[in-house]
Amino acid sequence: MNSTRFSEPLHRLDTDTFHVVIIGGGITGLAAAYYLEKHAPPYVTYSVLEGDTRWGGKIVTENISGFIVEGGPDSFLTQKPAALNLCRELGLEERLLGTNEAQRKVYVLLNGRLRPLPDGVMLVIPTRFTPFVTSSLISWPGKLRMALDLVIPRRRQDGDESLASFIRRRLGQEALDKIAEPLMAGIHVADAERQSLAATFPRFMELERVHRSLIKGMLIQKRQLARRAVPAPPLFMTLRDGLGELVSALCARLRGDMRLNSPVVRLEKVDGNGMATPHGRANGYLVRLRDGQTIYADAIVLAVPAYTAATLVAPLHATLAQRLHSIRYVSTATLSLGYRRSELDHPLDGFGFVVPRREPTHLMACTWTSTKFFHRAPAGYALLRVFLGGPHREATLALDDEAILDLVRKELQCIMGIRADPVFVRLHRWQDANPQYDVGHLERVAEIEGLVAALPGLYLTGSAFRGVGIPDCIVQGENVAKAVLSMAVQRAAH
Ligand SMILES: Cc1cc2nc3c(=O)[nH]c(=O)nc-3n(C[C@H](O)[C@H](O)[C@H](O)COP(=O)(O)OP(=O)(O)OC[C@H]3O[C@@H](n4cnc5c(N)ncnc54)[C@H](O)[C@@H]3O)c2cc1C
Repeated sequence: MNSTRFSEPLHRLDTDTFHVVIIGGGITGLAAAYYLEKHAPPYVTYSVLEGDTRWGGKIVTENISGFIVEGGPDSFLTQKPAALNLCRELGLEERLLGTNEAQRKVYVLLNGRLRPLPDGVMLVIPTRFTPFVTSSLISWPGKLRMALDLVIPRRRQDGDESLASFIRRRLGQEALDKIAEPLMAGIHVADAERQSLAATFPRFMELERVHRSLIKGMLIQKRQLARRAVPAPPLFMTLRDGLGELVSALCARLRGDMRLNSPVVRLEKVDGNGMATPHGRANGYLVRLRDGQTIYADAIVLAVPAYTAATLVAPLHATLAQRLHSIRYVSTATLSLGYRRSELDHPLDGFGFVVPRREPTHLMACTWTSTKFFHRAPAGYALLRVFLGGPHREATLALDDEAILDLVRKELQCIMGIRADPVFVRLHRWQDANPQYDVGHLERVAEIEGLVAALPGLYLTGSAFRGVGIPDCIVQGENVAKAVLSMAVQRAAH
């Protein structure tokens, strides 16, 4: 091999291997590494470079005196089976834990009081008559407007629209304000007026396209589901000791070059002049780490937030960087509070409550964690988790930790009558952590994918693009591993 024209020694430059560098050790990057490990021929090697001192990215579980505290996600959706399947494949079947189905009530804060979401409402679509008509959450005119969905014609135009416009059109303003906005926009930590329906709830678009009426379509689907021979697993599942178990199980399988505390600061394209190899692998990249080391990569998987990817690709492709920057992010925080159960008068008879935008409170939602899942608090204790920030309440996050705790305790006192001192509190701040899938998101991502094709061997993946939920991230990790492997195989064939 010719000697390189780079002054510092390259960490790895072996002509017989195809080396993949995965940047970002969140669930997407770890899933990509796992599927590479699983399917790659021996000549494919990989490094996973994580800037932080721990693996998992947004997934962070802490055991605080027997309380299982999730700083980020607390569960995954099973309707999209990738996470459930991966857990099973990793030998975690016995560790799986479904939501407590006996207590699946969700409350909505309305004029300062908690009102239950009527039984049978699926996200925002009513599927049971009596609980819906007797509910005090929606007014009579609001209920009648929702029922008009049964006769309202389909939308004429094709294409994306905002969640708010869709719900307003089909079910009315009240259903939007009291249910869809806090629940459906809440899941995505999004502004319903900007949130892309096509990118976040494509199933709703499909319901309208196929059945016209959402209520009719949902009832048909519910009947089909009830006829299934094998009962469906609970809609949301986690692991007995928290989602951190998934991260640990994944890491235990990875035999590649795994590096924590290794932020990547710069990418450079190898132009071929200085690195001609017998395999013609001169068209790779140099990955520069903050500690001064450099790694040669035949392929790079960027599994980092879009703004980080933008900064890294900027010297290689200015337009791509600019498009990546156009994916907005908002900040959030979660505050977990442990209590002695005997000191709470509240029954905690549900999964918690969500808060419509118009309610004058700083809270976005509150999960009654020790009711939603068993094994989340020691016997005799309860665990709550409050969500703060998001598109309409980001200013709260400017407060210091003490002020946030003060404010949350006052609001929990007003809403739930809690006066007791918590036995512990734990705040997790998530700065610019929630990608916003604004209307047109799918077109934006398709354009980005088109642009990145100009940089062969460079792949973009993760929650910024094709799904924020853990199952979507795992699917994206698997897909990127497949794409990289097909490139490696093609390269080897030449
Ligand atoms: C509070 C909260 C609650 C959530 N709840 C749920 C839930 O209940 N269920 C669900 O399915 N989803 C939930 N989500 C969403 C889900 O957790 C995330 O979308 C998903 O974990 C993102 O994974 P990722 O690997 O794509 O990105 P990340 O987890 O963001 O991973 C990216 C990694 O890249 C690293 N990195 C960044 N820059 C560099 C660099 N220059 N060099 C090297 N490494 C770098 C970061 O340190 C990070 O570890 C939640 C998210 C949040 C914030």
